[in-house]
Amino acid sequence: MFKQKITLLQLLSGLMIASTILIFGSGLAVNYNVTNKEFVSQSLDTNKMYASKLADTADLYLEEMMQLLQFSASKIAQNYTDEKTRQNEIDHLANQVRSFNSLTVLTTDYEVLHTSINNSHLQGSKLQTETAKEAIAAQKPFISTPFETVTNKLGIFLSHPIFHEDGRYLGVVGGTIYLKENNALRTILGAHYYRDGSFVYVIDREGFILYHDDFEKIGSKVTNETIIHRISEYRSGASQITGDDGKRSIAGYASIQKANWGVVSERPYAQVTAPATHVLKRTALSSLPFIVISLLIILLTAKFITKPLRSLATLVEQTSQNTSAEKMKNVNDWYYEAHQMKLSIMKSIGSFQEQVSYYHTKSVVDPLTGLTNRRTMDDLLDRWIEEKSAFVLLIIDLDHFKNVNDTYGHAVGDDVLRYLANMMTELVEGEDEICCRYGGEEFVILFKNKPLPYVIEKAETLRQQLEETDSPTGHPITMSAGIGAFPLHTSAPAELFELVDEALYESKRNGRNRVTVVTEQEQ
Ligand code: GH3
Ligand code: MG
Ligand code: MG
Repeated sequence: MFKQKITLLQLLSGLMIASTILIFGSGLAVNYNVTNKEFVSQSLDTNKMYASKLADTADLYLEEMMQLLQFSASKIAQNYTDEKTRQNEIDHLANQVRSFNSLTVLTTDYEVLHTSINNSHLQGSKLQTETAKEAIAAQKPFISTPFETVTNKLGIFLSHPIFHEDGRYLGVVGGTIYLKENNALRTILGAHYYRDGSFVYVIDREGFILYHDDFEKIGSKVTNETIIHRISEYRSGASQITGDDGKRSIAGYASIQKANWGVVSERPYAQVTAPATHVLKRTALSSLPFIVISLLIILLTAKFITKPLRSLATLVEQTSQNTSAEKMKNVNDWYYEAHQMKLSIMKSIGSFQEQVSYYHTKSVVDPLTGLTNRRTMDDLLDRWIEEKSAFVLLIIDLDHFKNVNDTYGHAVGDDVLRYLANMMTELVEGEDEICCRYGGEEFVILFKNKPLPYVIEKAETLRQQLEETDSPTGHPITMSAGIGAFPLHTSAPAELFELVDEALYESKRNGRNRVTVVTEQEQ
């Protein structure tokens, strides 16, 4: 089975197209990676700065709240025995500040001395919770961890000790922030909430979420140990983290110094890198025209480069026709390899054609005399007969040629044959008079569409010329001839040769050196 081979053009264009696509593709990939990294690094910075800013604000706020508690504590200490002043101070604090969800004055034996209006039912009771104990035990400004209040709310407790002028420790004045309700933290952090999936939360040093944009998450624990650890060490920074749901995000964090809490600002990774994808699409789109132009240039170039070889290949395919050598010369061999290839193909075609013409000549021409050989003569006659052309046949036989060989040698005999052949060739005119070597020292001249008298005259001329000219033997030689015409003497071409042979023998019988025409009676 003949299998079509891939062409150089296909190969070259394929290669160039593949490399172009590879170059553009890798360019885009590198571009995407760089922009992606840039966006991630930007987001790390932004989130870190954002967390720091929020932490600073929270710090200031806590500071302010602690100062308020301190101020109240000192006022209460001054008028400790005056119950009205104490209650006034609590009410004043609750009304003016509104930072706390509830306020309490607690004695060192955990008695609720005063509460804000919303918790008045607790007044007079003992509050022996863990947080209360810790607050009393601290004897200094105190911020609790999240705890469940007696009213079953999640809260944190901020308190300041009350010391009497004489140094006695009287108790604490403190405020509770209900984490799951609108509170001071939500007021200062929630305003920054943005809607693209980013969120902010506050954790304590154990990782409990004190504030989250999403209420549901408050009170639960974050799992990222790194952030908890760093925040517990009062550090700030930013890193890529993976959440419990496997989603990556960029987190910036900063500690709230006052409380040893931390603010975390998180932005989903997908959101961060979305602009990079957008940039990639736009870059790809804007480079599309260049790709198309490149591909066009590539295809044209490939066509131009392969053209000489393509033309040579096509012509080689047709070398059986003689025309290809001429066409081959016209192939534009504008570069070295094509030029060399063209030269070598032309050389081989040239020698091939020389051989063809050598064998062709050999097959149609008699090597000794250069006249048409007998086989070709037969072919020619067949053609003439087929096309119903009339012709006259002249057969010539040298007289006593055996004697020439015997007397002067075979080589001189050959010279005599060539000498006669030359004379015959000079005698004939045009393409329709053909001289052949019929065999040995017998020759034939065929005359197509020529009248009989014309041929008789030619034969007579040849006979006289031979008779009057010295042959290579140094003496004239003579010839005998027979003449017959088709279809004048016979309508059967094969028979014509017999008739003419007969006429030739008659010339021999009648003393040689003469021309005899087939008589019409002999038919
Ligand atoms: P005639 O025809 O007059 O009767 O006598 P002839 O001597 O010519 O008769 P014949 O036909 O018997 O002799 C032909 C001779 O031609 C015989 C052969 O040696 C010679 N001959 C044939 N072919 C060649 C050739 O190619 N070269 C040479 N030198 N001689 C040839
Ligand atoms: Mg003979
Ligand atoms: Mg003879």
